[in-house]
Amino acid sequence: MNAPQSPNSTKVEQVKLLIDGQWVESKTTEWRDIVNPATQEVLARVPFATVEEVDAAVAAAQRAFQTWRNTPIGARMRIMLKLQALIREHTKRIAQVLSAEQGKTLADAEGDIFRGLEVVEHAASIGTLQMGEFAENVAGGVDTYTLRQPIGVCAGITPFNFPAMIPLWMFPMAIVCGNTFVLKPSEQDPLSTMLLVELALEAGVPAGVLNVVHGGKQVVDAICTHQDIKAISFVGSTEVGTHVYNLGSQHGKRVQSMMGAKNHAVVLPDANRTQTINALVGAAFGAAGQRCMATSVAVLVGKAREWLPDIKEAASKLKVNAGCEPGTDVGPVVSKRAKERVLGLIESGIKEGAKLELDGRDVKVPGYEQGNFVGPTLFSGVKTDMQVYTQEIFGPVLVTLEVDTLDEAIALVNANPFGNGTGLFTQSGAAARKFQSEIDIGQVGINIPIPVPVPFFSFTGSRGSKLGDLGPYGKQVVQFYTQTKTVTARWFDDDSVNDGVNTTISLR
Ligand code: NAD
Repeated sequence: MNAPQSPNSTKVEQVKLLIDGQWVESKTTEWRDIVNPATQEVLARVPFATVEEVDAAVAAAQRAFQTWRNTPIGARMRIMLKLQALIREHTKRIAQVLSAEQGKTLADAEGDIFRGLEVVEHAASIGTLQMGEFAENVAGGVDTYTLRQPIGVCAGITPFNFPAMIPLWMFPMAIVCGNTFVLKPSEQDPLSTMLLVELALEAGVPAGVLNVVHGGKQVVDAICTHQDIKAISFVGSTEVGTHVYNLGSQHGKRVQSMMGAKNHAVVLPDANRTQTINALVGAAFGAAGQRCMATSVAVLVGKAREWLPDIKEAASKLKVNAGCEPGTDVGPVVSKRAKERVLGLIESGIKEGAKLELDGRDVKVPGYEQGNFVGPTLFSGVKTDMQVYTQEIFGPVLVTLEVDTLDEAIALVNANPFGNGTGLFTQSGAAARKFQSEIDIGQVGINIPIPVPVPFFSFTGSRGSKLGDLGPYGKQVVQFYTQTKTVTARWFDDDSVNDGVNTTISLR
C-alpha cells in the first residue's frame, strides 16, 4: 500500500465523500493513490476522512432515519427495483473501472458486479422477508405478534477483493429494511464502489440514507466507537475483523465480521478427473487467488495423488496478463505490497521443505512489465505446520497435501482454524453425505469449487472465518438489520365484564 501523500503533486481525480446527499471534498491532509495494479498508473486519489467528517455522515444518517424508517415498504422496494435495472445497464462501464483499479479480468469483474446485483434483486422482495409473526388468542382475547423494525444507523466496512459484490451485500439490504447507512469502502479500490453509490442515488435513495466516508484505521475506529451507529458489517482480514468485532461490541453495537480463510478441496479418486481438475485450477488461480472462497489447499485422497501432474499442467496453461486484455486467466495481485507478501510466503514454502512444482515468481508479461504479477504456483508435499499452509496467502498459490482416506481428509480440514468454505469432489453419494455431515465448515460444495450461496440463502462461513452469529444477505441479514419487537395485545369490546384484579402472572 502507498503511504498517504499530499493532494497536490499531480492533477488526478479526487474521490469525494457522500454526506447528506452531497458529494463533498474532504478537508483531510491525508490522501492515498489508487493505482492500476497492471501498470502502476495513478487512477485517482482517495481521502482519509477526518473524524469530523465521519461525525457529519453519521449525523446525516441519523436525521434521515427519522423519515426513512416510516417510508412505506413498497417505496423502498421500488428503489431496489430501479437500482437493479441501473446496475444491469451500467455493468460493462463499472466492470472496466473495477478491472483497472483491482486487477481482475473484465469477465470476472462482471461476475463481481453480478453476484452483488443478485442481492439487490433479492432486496426488492423485502416485503415478505421483513414480515413479523402473529399468533391469535394466546390467552383469552389476547393476540401476540412481532414487528421487525429497522435499528437505525448501520455501517459497512469493505475489503479490496470484491469492490462491487461486498458493498452490495451490505447497503441495499440495510436500507431496504428501513435503516440508514454509512459505507467505508476499501481505500485500495473505491472507484467502482462509488459508481454503484451514484446509481443508488439515481435510483432514488434519499439524501442521508446512504453516506460514504473513506479512510483506514482512524475512520474505522471512529465508526466502531460512534454512539449513534447501531450495527456494523465488516468483511476483510481476520486481524482487522477481530479488532472491529471487539471494538464495536465493546461500544454496544451488533457486529458481523466475515474474515480470512484457507479453503480445502478434498479430491477422491472416484471423482470425474477432467472436471475436477478444471474446477480446482479455476478456483485456485481465478482472481489471482484473491477470493475469500478461493481454493487454496487441495487434499488428494488415495490414488488421486496421481493427478498432481494434470493439475500442474492445467495450471501452467493459464494466461497471466492485465485484466483488460482478452483471454487473460490470471491478472495481477492488487498491490506491490501484496506481491511481496505472496513472494515471501512462496520463499518460506521452499525453505520449509515443500516441493515447488510450478513457480510463478518470475512470470513476465510483455507490455505490463511494472505489473504486480505472480504466475500460478503449485506446491506438493506440504505439511500442516508450514507457513504456506497456516497462512492465508491470498495469491495464485495452490498447496497440495496427500492422505489415504476420506476420514483423514475430514480430520485434516476440521483441524484447520478457518471455516469459510470447502469442497468435495467425488461420484459417491455416500461419501458426499458423510462429508457434508461431518465437515465443520460453514459452506460446503459437492463437486462445486466455490460454494458461495445465492442471496435467498445466506453467506454462512464459520469458525475462524467469522465473528458474530448472523451472516451477510438472505434471511440472516434481515435479522441482523432489524430489531424484533413482540406485542401482546388485548382489545376489550366494552367495559361490562369485571373479572376483578388479578395479581398472578397468568394472562388468563
Ligand atoms: P483488510 O482487513 O486489510 O481491509 C478491510 C477493511 O478494513 C478496509 O476497508 C480497510 O480500509 C480496513 N482496515 C485496514 N486496516 C485496518 C486497521 N488496521 N484498522 C481498522 N481498519 C482497517 O482486508 P483486505 O486486504 O482489503 O481484504 C482481504 C481479506 O478479506 C482476506 O483476508 C479475505 O479472506 C477477506 N475476505 C473475507 C470475505 C468473507 O466473506 N469471509 C470476503 C472477502 C474478503
